[in-house]
Amino acid sequence: MNEVVLSFDLDHTLMINPFRRWVFPEINRWLQSHFPEENPVNRLIREHRRRLSDGAYLEAYDWDDILCTVALEHAIPFTVRELVEKHACVGKVWLFADVLPAMDRLTQAGAHMVAATNGFTRYQRPVTDCLGLTPYFSGFYTPEEMRCAKPQASFFQFGKGRRVIHVGDRLDQDVLGANRAHQISVWIYRELHSDLQNIPFTERTRHPSFSTCLTARLYREGVPTELHETCRPQYVISTLDELLEIWKQEGMNN
Ligand SMILES: [Mg+2]
Repeated sequence: MNEVVLSFDLDHTLMINPFRRWVFPEINRWLQSHFPEENPVNRLIREHRRRLSDGAYLEAYDWDDILCTVALEHAIPFTVRELVEKHACVGKVWLFADVLPAMDRLTQAGAHMVAATNGFTRYQRPVTDCLGLTPYFSGFYTPEEMRCAKPQASFFQFGKGRRVIHVGDRLDQDVLGANRAHQISVWIYRELHSDLQNIPFTERTRHPSFSTCLTARLYREGVPTELHETCRPQYVISTLDELLEIWKQEGMNN
């Protein structure tokens, strides 16, 4: 029996949430009546980054608390949670086309799948419910439950001693975190060059052109150089269709 836990990042790995296109613009419109600049919502982003750089990982993803901190002297007429619930509807949130077919095949094969996201449950569940993703997961692991966040190795304790294959789009969170926790990191990169797509997934990350691809991406994301080697994934895939084979192979190695 395959005892490996297959964990998924959500945002930009499986789905697009409503924050950037709907929730933040609505917060911005309200903040504009209290702050002089064009994009006062950037105050929330700065506070989020300040918390991250202070090592306050859990607090960095609590958007209601961040909004309260930024708009301290004003009565806020909504919560971020309410805005997410309002905008988590068909047409405003969406799934990548490969997600449901891949999740169906993995479910049929008996894979044990969980969500492992840095988004609080109250901001993610309305979206996964709307998109029909929630039933695929037997666990939903978030910062408020784990009391930490990716890329902290302790976040991956949701595996409870079992091996974890973690799939995500962020090198500095998903891949770095899984590597630090000595788990199996799978980087989903849908723009992977066809040269690399055309070779078996077992060989890709050792291919010389992968190092070039990885370094370019790490520089683009502003990841500090000293972390680059720890951000090297064990596997890179351009579509979730390839995950079943990785899961089978790692299950046999178990
Ligand atoms: Mg992501």
